[in-house]
Amino acid sequence: MNCKLCNINEADQTGSHVTSAFLLTSQIGKRDFERGFLLTTDPTQDYTENKKADDIKEDNIFCRDCEKRLSFIENYYSTEITQKIENPNFKPNFETIKSKNSYYLQCKRIDPIAFHLLIYSNIWRASISTQPIYNHFKLSSVIESELQFLLDLFLPNTVDHKINIGLNNWVKDVRNCKDFFTVFPYIILKAENLENKDQTYEFFDNITHNPNHIILNEYIILSFFGKTEWVDDFFQLRDEIEITDLINDNTEICKVGVLPNDRFLKIIEMIRNLAVEDRLRKLEKVCVLELAIHGIPINQENVKKLMDIKVK
Ligand SMILES: [Zn+2]
Repeated sequence: MNCKLCNINEADQTGSHVTSAFLLTSQIGKRDFERGFLLTTDPTQDYTENKKADDIKEDNIFCRDCEKRLSFIENYYSTEITQKIENPNFKPNFETIKSKNSYYLQCKRIDPIAFHLLIYSNIWRASISTQPIYNHFKLSSVIESELQFLLDLFLPNTVDHKINIGLNNWVKDVRNCKDFFTVFPYIILKAENLENKDQTYEFFDNITHNPNHIILNEYIILSFFGKTEWVDDFFQLRDEIEITDLINDNTEICKVGVLPNDRFLKIIEMIRNLAVEDRLRKLEKVCVLELAIHGIPINQENVKKLMDIKVK
């Protein structure tokens, strides 16, 4: 199979992280000490099983060269954003601007195109992945190939399997080509400062489209690939934030909106409750069926008894 990014080389890379590795460090622990629990709405799935990072890795989607190209942008983002955004020593790198109910950070030390590429690469990888956790999340094939084109065009190339352009020169090249860069608008929001980042997880909603509702670690991404008109409001943020302040829609500025911790955790809790409800509904059906097979009267009491046994 050919690499899904360059479409030329054989996809010989194993263990590609579908979500950028740096985003996962605080979420599931360092490599080889990874801890990941998959919560699906399938009632028979054991969500207490430690699956490490298996669910978010995939073999043979990229070639070794493209894996390096993706890492290049991840390292840049990680150095300028992930490692500094909560560190008071680097406050001057982020300009704080007040907005409705909260504030946002304008990131001054990363090129906005690089920032956008990193975000797009994560959404695109989730869309092309066939791992169960991302299976239901699918962009349209037109958007998928536009993102692939953009990433392939702008990520640095390899020579003899090495990236031999320095960061500064790459940024210069990117700036020179900015007119060829298509911006798909999105909002990225960050929980202000979560002490326990183990609680957060990955979530790609399969129903909402305008915007897509995505959670990656302590970040919420709302991406608009159609019109920048906010239609779906699954996280109920539309009336709470000022879209015109927070939207990333050009190649000159990139910004991260900040959500108070409790507001972020409320969204996580809502998703968890919905998943639990859905599991219980499905479990109820399983129990009714089992009672019927065994000729036991189907009534609320018997269904509940059986459900209690299965939930334990
Ligand atoms: Zn490739």
